[in-house]
Amino acid sequence: MIDKRLTGSYLNNQLIIYVKIAKHSPVLALESNMEYDYYKYHPMSEITNWMVQIAENHSDVVTIVNYGQTYEKRTISLLKELRYQTVWMDCGIHAREWISPAFCQYFVRQILQTYKTDPKIEEMKNMDFYVTPVLNVDGYIYSWKDNTTRLRRKNRSPGPSDCDCYGTDLNHNFDAYWSTIGASFNCCSRTFCGSSALSEPEAQAVTYFVGTRKDHFLCFFTIHSYSQLLLIPYGNPNFTAPNYDELMKVGLAAANEIKKVHGMNYTVGTSPDILYANSGTSSDWAGLQGIPFLPEDQIQPTCEEAYRGALHVITSAHDNTFNGAVDATFTTLWTLLLAVGVTTSTTLL
Ligand SMILES: [Zn+2]
Repeated sequence: MIDKRLTGSYLNNQLIIYVKIAKHSPVLALESNMEYDYYKYHPMSEITNWMVQIAENHSDVVTIVNYGQTYEKRTISLLKELRYQTVWMDCGIHAREWISPAFCQYFVRQILQTYKTDPKIEEMKNMDFYVTPVLNVDGYIYSWKDNTTRLRRKNRSPGPSDCDCYGTDLNHNFDAYWSTIGASFNCCSRTFCGSSALSEPEAQAVTYFVGTRKDHFLCFFTIHSYSQLLLIPYGNPNFTAPNYDELMKVGLAAANEIKKVHGMNYTVGTSPDILYANSGTSSDWAGLQGIPFLPEDQIQPTCEEAYRGALHVITSAHDNTFNGAVDATFTTLWTLLLAVGVTTSTTLL
């Protein structure tokens, strides 16, 4: 059973990259032999190769472990061991939101490049990072197929027997207020929540992985697009986080850090307060606003500012835990919606 703090829309998985900031690891070699372009969108095969490359180049701190399979039998990765306080980040839960996997890859690269030189990061050597660049691997691959599939959101499992449509919205398949809000029972809907909570193998894998280790986690991030929002729990308007005031404080400070980078304004609040309220509907709000697509030249600035914001939340959690009173205040789900997509009714890609 997943903790209800991991509210509403949530984690699913495929490949997890495990980044441990070791205390006495040798100085990091920067990726001189690696010409990976972080400011382009990459198909799944390239992301997989990137993960292998990262793990090879940083074998002292990075481990990849397989821990399950997607519906189409693609590998899901899992870690065997968890010793330290941990940060979780997942990207690519919705196939079409390509800026999200791009950000996870950027995040890993930044942490690996700076933890020896940035005292702020170095200070966090007693924390581990679990980063999943692409959660919905099947859907992501499908979204790269051609222009007719570019807007794929769901995974690729077949619908119920009386339905011809494929896919479940993994974000609505977790056992946290399942189907209570923002989800659809229509299997052809973009927000179809599945035949039951955790009906999808991807959701099961993450639930097991996170659920059995949740006491180790300091904070969770799930990365989506398109908007400029930093969401705090809960997604359900009937519940308020007991530490709402403190979360808002940290979130607003993170938004302030984000603004310093490129002047962008991110809004902070709960999903019912600032997301559904804005769109006037709890259904597929982004889809209703047209076809979003973020040009590749926006990847870099978007990643830079989101990184700064995420880092603020992480360092706050770190300081709170290791330098202050130990409590679970920050063990909460932070949902980051990155970037404003270009809206067009005709061009898909
Ligand atoms: Zn999304």
